[in-house]
Amino acid sequence: MHAMNNQDWLARSLAAVWHPCTQMQHHHSQGPMALPLVPIARGAGAWLFDFDGKRYLDGISSWWTNLFGHANPRINAALKEQLESLEHVMLAGFTHPPVVELSERLSALTGGHLGHAFYASDGASATEIALKMSFHYWQNRGRPQKNRFLCLKGGYHGETVGALAVTDVALFKDAYAPLVRQADTVMCPDSRRAEPGETAIDVARRAAAALEAKLEAEGEHIAALIVEPLVQGAAGMVMYDPEYLRLARQLCDRYEVHLICDEIAVGCGRTGTFFAHEQAGIKPDLLCLSKGISGGYLPLAIVLGTDAIYAAFYDEATQRGFLHSHSYTGNPLACRAALATLDLFEADQVLIANQARAAQIKAAFAPLAGHPRVRHLRQQGMILAFDVDSSDPAFSHRFYRAALAQEALVRPMGNTVYVMPPYIVSPEEIAHLAQAVAGALDAALENGEAAKHWPPPG
Ligand SMILES: *Cc1c(COP(=O)(O)O)cnc(C)c1O
Repeated sequence: MHAMNNQDWLARSLAAVWHPCTQMQHHHSQGPMALPLVPIARGAGAWLFDFDGKRYLDGISSWWTNLFGHANPRINAALKEQLESLEHVMLAGFTHPPVVELSERLSALTGGHLGHAFYASDGASATEIALKMSFHYWQNRGRPQKNRFLCLKGGYHGETVGALAVTDVALFKDAYAPLVRQADTVMCPDSRRAEPGETAIDVARRAAAALEAKLEAEGEHIAALIVEPLVQGAAGMVMYDPEYLRLARQLCDRYEVHLICDEIAVGCGRTGTFFAHEQAGIKPDLLCLSKGISGGYLPLAIVLGTDAIYAAFYDEATQRGFLHSHSYTGNPLACRAALATLDLFEADQVLIANQARAAQIKAAFAPLAGHPRVRHLRQQGMILAFDVDSSDPAFSHRFYRAALAQEALVRPMGNTVYVMPPYIVSPEEIAHLAQAVAGALDAALENGEAAKHWPPPG
């Protein structure tokens, strides 16, 4: 009997699995848009290994979820222990230690400001829960006219039909526009938009002025503003000054609008603080978490809310309650993975250790600032990104193939290349990543050369 190799798994996957965020034809293509499909046998630390013995440094934490490496021994041990006692129980009418402890610890991380934790399984559900909570809050408070949402240009909050209302990424949204109750978009404080003589803070103030004008005109009809604090991930790692969050918080208070911080990507230490909004010294009304909170182990999403929001639902009447549910709400295994993840933050003083790690990343990638095709090299904590001056529509695919050939998983979004490694990368692994990115950049810019390394399956 022969051991299954890459080619076997690849063929079976292409026949039976419909892969996410993918034009499946590209997996069969030989052209510039060719997209390799990589069967993974196992992971260890920052590395993924395929069935042919090749390895890839997970430079984007497997879609921003993995914080402490693959097959982390401490998270594994916690999950094994949990498996022996309780794998799952419904959360309506029942409770269990992992969900209680996780709720308490997350509340403590917000200084007690967000003391009520609602659970779901993925980020888009967290977005929908936050929107529904805000909408229903105003209804319960006798102000049903406050039923619209504001989001930032380019913002991303998930791709279910409800979440698409506040997601402003044409590629994901346009095909479904007739299904979506579109929110209004307001100016994004993207630091790259600074005009000559303007600082990032000036752009933030300009964007806040636009928000103020919108709220002045229509605040009576607005339930909530939803933002990705400090970094808009899927927009292409768009970074902005915390001044915007300070001003947005003041405006939301003045016009009685909820501020929803979607920290699904930027939470859990990614930007340098545990929550990104801490850097603005503000508190949201609702906070969405997912992705990294379970260490990248299991689907888990949490919406944290204030006492004021919770109180608006607390009543004798059933229909004034928040009746939303998912079958796996508060799954004990996922909560246990999250607790083990929070334990690692404490035991290893991760936020402090990441300052040194972020400095290593900065130094390793600094030479790219002098590359003739690199624009806006930027960093926020454990996210580094730059834009590439190229009009080649296949650039991101060429780069992705070239990076794999250099033993790195780095998947650009359009012309934006970014790295977002797990918090266990060593200086040597950071050097490997920087070298792979520089090499892949030149290979991708040579138009087509990179494809030679990756003959796609026939
Ligand atoms: C990934 C992401 C989501 C959606 O999470 P899913 O688990 O993919 O549904 C929402 N908001 C932000 C900011 C994200 O990065």
